[in-house]
Amino acid sequence: MKMGHFFILLEFVFLIAMCGSDSGEVKPLPPYDLTGKLADTYSKYQEKSISDRRFKHSELVPLINKLGANFEVEKAGKSIEGRDIYLVKTGKGPIKVLLWSQMHGDESTATMALLDIFNFLGQNDEFDALRQQLREQLTIYFIPMLNPDGAERFERRNALGIDLNRDAQRLQCPESQLLKRIRDQTDADWGFNLHDQSRYYAAGSKANTATLSFLAPAYNEQKEINQVRGDAMRLIGWMNTQLQPLIPGKIAKYYDGFEPRAFGDNIQKWGTSTVLIESGGLANDREKQEIRKFNYLALLTAMDAIANRRYAPVSLDAYNKIPFNNGNAFHDLILREVEVEKEGNWYMVDIAFRNNERDMDGNREFYYRSSVSDIGDLSIFYAYEDFPGKGYRAVPGKTYPEVLPNINALKKLDASKLWREGYTSVRLQVVPQGQLYSQYPLQLLSGNGNPETDIISGTNPALLLQKDGQTRFVVVNGFLFDVQEGVKWERY
Ligand SMILES: [Zn+2]
Repeated sequence: MKMGHFFILLEFVFLIAMCGSDSGEVKPLPPYDLTGKLADTYSKYQEKSISDRRFKHSELVPLINKLGANFEVEKAGKSIEGRDIYLVKTGKGPIKVLLWSQMHGDESTATMALLDIFNFLGQNDEFDALRQQLREQLTIYFIPMLNPDGAERFERRNALGIDLNRDAQRLQCPESQLLKRIRDQTDADWGFNLHDQSRYYAAGSKANTATLSFLAPAYNEQKEINQVRGDAMRLIGWMNTQLQPLIPGKIAKYYDGFEPRAFGDNIQKWGTSTVLIESGGLANDREKQEIRKFNYLALLTAMDAIANRRYAPVSLDAYNKIPFNNGNAFHDLILREVEVEKEGNWYMVDIAFRNNERDMDGNREFYYRSSVSDIGDLSIFYAYEDFPGKGYRAVPGKTYPEVLPNINALKKLDASKLWREGYTSVRLQVVPQGQLYSQYPLQLLSGNGNPETDIISGTNPALLLQKDGQTRFVVVNGFLFDVQEGVKWERY
């Protein structure tokens, strides 16, 4: 079947589904599965040259410069340090849509998704009917990487140390002025404010990470709902319905307190229906490449919905029923109900770790510096990795007596044997800069360094997990290892 016919058929099925709904509540609509089709074909459009979060402006610019005839590219302004900020425009429709990403320099997931969307919009294939419709109905303005100076350092704020998302009223920074000017010039009907949030948020009170969080920001203290904000809520309700089959339970709603200095809140106030999208956490996706895909899907799903007014009949309830972000509910690892010793007595505790990132020189790579993030009764918290530790004792490991010259010497050791003998740390004459491979199964110490042995919040103890006097597992730099499985050094 030709794609054009296919979409007309979808429209028909969709209209029937809508007419049959008295309450206005939109039920999941299996016949309308654009989002699923986009998911199935995503890898065709993924911009493969960018595959981790710490890419820089210099890596983005060539990708923008090579955009084809479907796009108009303009240097819209400069950052404080003189980096060009681009405005990419496509389509010629009456509905204006404005998307801006990475106003916080270390929140790059959506920028990657925008590159994928550029690839999608720039090709010709079975989705041409959709592309044509988007171009005829919408004029889409993209500002990818609004804060390139922050991206350079992979930090939230700009070169002036200002949080651009608290500068919507004072407009002191050129980046903020640019966003305000483009919002006003386009008088955008729709705005997409694209961010990353902590990967430790849960979606509501279940053990699901908040992989995507949405918000239709409030435009006043009373959190009133006018047509502008209501439409943003309806659109989010639609997006949630379409995305749920792909990330069930992992979509949340951001807290909607009014922040008078923030852009989302103000842009909503200025008359643009504004949707905040926050990319959070997902298991086995530290570089957020899966979450990037969900951004791509969320945004294309939204554009299709705007072009076809699919959001219009959606009830506000579809938005309101999305669970709130549950802040800091996740840890990377929780050892449940293990015993620890203090002053000769043993106590049952849960011990949580987080694998904190530390940037290397140049902010292009990072290493982990993990720490105990909490201890005690952690039964209300969730973990990316849970260790059922009943019957285990958690004991700080010892330091191997010999000082090794380098990493190669380390890799000749039998880690399992050392663990069984109670060693978790090794001294090296030279520890590589930043401990790039800090997921080593043995804690690396400098020549005269000593391991941390206190098990309290903020420390990074390497632990033996012992049962019946035998070491069965170890925790090194917040990562859990199974002694029986041993170590494959070629991984490091
Ligand atoms: Zn942000």
